[in-house]
Amino acid sequence: MSPQSLHAPEASPPPDAILNALPHPVIVISDDGEVIYANGAAQVALGGWIAGLPFAEIFPGSDESFERLIARGSALTLASKTHARYRALAGPPSAYGRVLSLFPDESATPAAIADTDELTGLLKRNGLNDGIERALVAEDGGAGRVAIHCIDLDRFKVVNDTLGHGVGDVLLARVAERIRSACRKGDCVARIGGDEFVVVQTGIASPEDAERLAARLVDLIGRTYVLSGHTVNIGASVGVAVAEAGNGPRDMLRNGDLALYEAKRAGRGRFRTFETGMDAALKYRRELEIDLRRALALKQFAVHYQPFVDLRDDRVIGFEALIRWDHPVRGRVPPMDFIPLAEETGLIAKIGEWVLRTACATAATWPEPMTVAVNISPVQFKSDTLVETVVSALAHSGLSPQRLEIEITEGALLEDTVNVLKTLHALQALGVKISMDDFGTGYSSLSYLQKFPFDKIKIDRSFVQGSDEDSEAILKAIASLGLSLGMAITAEGVETPEQLARIRDEQCTHVQGYLTGRPMPADGIHPFLSE
Ligand code: C2E
Ligand code: MG
Ligand code: MG
Repeated sequence: MSPQSLHAPEASPPPDAILNALPHPVIVISDDGEVIYANGAAQVALGGWIAGLPFAEIFPGSDESFERLIARGSALTLASKTHARYRALAGPPSAYGRVLSLFPDESATPAAIADTDELTGLLKRNGLNDGIERALVAEDGGAGRVAIHCIDLDRFKVVNDTLGHGVGDVLLARVAERIRSACRKGDCVARIGGDEFVVVQTGIASPEDAERLAARLVDLIGRTYVLSGHTVNIGASVGVAVAEAGNGPRDMLRNGDLALYEAKRAGRGRFRTFETGMDAALKYRRELEIDLRRALALKQFAVHYQPFVDLRDDRVIGFEALIRWDHPVRGRVPPMDFIPLAEETGLIAKIGEWVLRTACATAATWPEPMTVAVNISPVQFKSDTLVETVVSALAHSGLSPQRLEIEITEGALLEDTVNVLKTLHALQALGVKISMDDFGTGYSSLSYLQKFPFDKIKIDRSFVQGSDEDSEAILKAIASLGLSLGMAITAEGVETPEQLARIRDEQCTHVQGYLTGRPMPADGIHPFLSE
């Protein structure tokens, strides 16, 4: 080609040839969202002859119509079905439609694409670290200016299990939308596990800014969803960590996780902000958990027994089994300090079974018809082997079912009431007695009494020991309620003769407290009884 021909007007190529010679893809989209033209580069990049195909088929990554995309501005990010990402510049509307020029998205390196979660379009864990890093750098180190929100969905598993993974996936996508809608444009959002999300919030001026977003996330995610005709309710727990000087992504994620753990411990459906000290508390619990895991094998547990007395004839009629943990270094750890941890970690299943078997075996050596009461945790009620375990403990010990009492708290009836009631009925059918423990400290005690014919109600010691008028009134009310429902009433925590006189007046049927006997080891029972 001679230099002249370049300038010669008669040698000017047809526009189509120019478009085909362009190194970047150009396409034209009609008002109906159809590709009506693709230049050579576009055909190479987007997989062949694409004219006539709907836009949505070529760029399946966007769940919005072309119209809505365009309405958001003229610079778009598009992901093709060939998994490439483009920055697209749209020309003005014309009689034919829109001309789009596509440029490979420099930020969408193959690694970045692998960092995107297909289901929600959010970042994945790898991308998140970079996102936090970038936010920290952009905010001058980030101290007090960047916060992360670690989000964990409550009850997501239930939706997935009952309505299927398809609905579960849609739910996750909807949650992602809600999270994004609560964030500002520059904030980065990631899904880092099945139902775990992280938001990186920038430009905050005070910790309240972070708390406001966290509260908004809890609220938004917790609102009802309608998914293929089902109304679905889930919740969210959120752990917030505001960057401190010198924090990197790892520190922030760890702090956010600690705060999330606290939010869940506090009952879920809420947020907690990281504070120093959460570290130490978690470290303590972790160590306690390690020790707890070994305690059974190392035979550090014992069962003690506290007598209860029938007030009608002032005789000891049975004992409550209470677990004791003697740790070689920590000393005696109170049940209230390790039972909740055992419940959280699931260790309660094994520990509870051991208590049950030990208590039945011990009680079998007592004079008939002396009974033993065993505390069963709400967590044990969730397992479908509880009835089997009870049957096996009775069979091995030779204790007759009528001599075993199971104590449950209202916590057991809070969730999954139908299954718990089934289990209770099955136990009662065996001949086992069922007691409602710590009555009056829960939420909706009275309705539970209607749902199940408990053999006994144990009035919590706070009402027995409280000397104010309210406790007195409550004590009176529960006692007369039990009386009319035909349930036995045990007053817990009676320490003084005055308290004893009072509960006698209120016609409680049984008493359990330091006054009538403290918990004692198994070998103390025969001497105690012969006294
Ligand atoms: P609980 O079932 O309500 O047991 C009664 C608690 O009150 C026992 O505390 C007992 O020692 C205490 N107590 C009895 N009389 C008096 C009194 O006159 N004054 C005072 N101040 N306290 C009295 P303990 O043994 O520390 O157990 C605390 C709780 O730990 C139990 O409350 C029960 O909820 C739980 N627990 C104990 N053993 C087990 C177990 O084997 N399995 C499960 N799941 N929970 C257990
Ligand atoms: Mg109890
Ligand atoms: Mg109690």
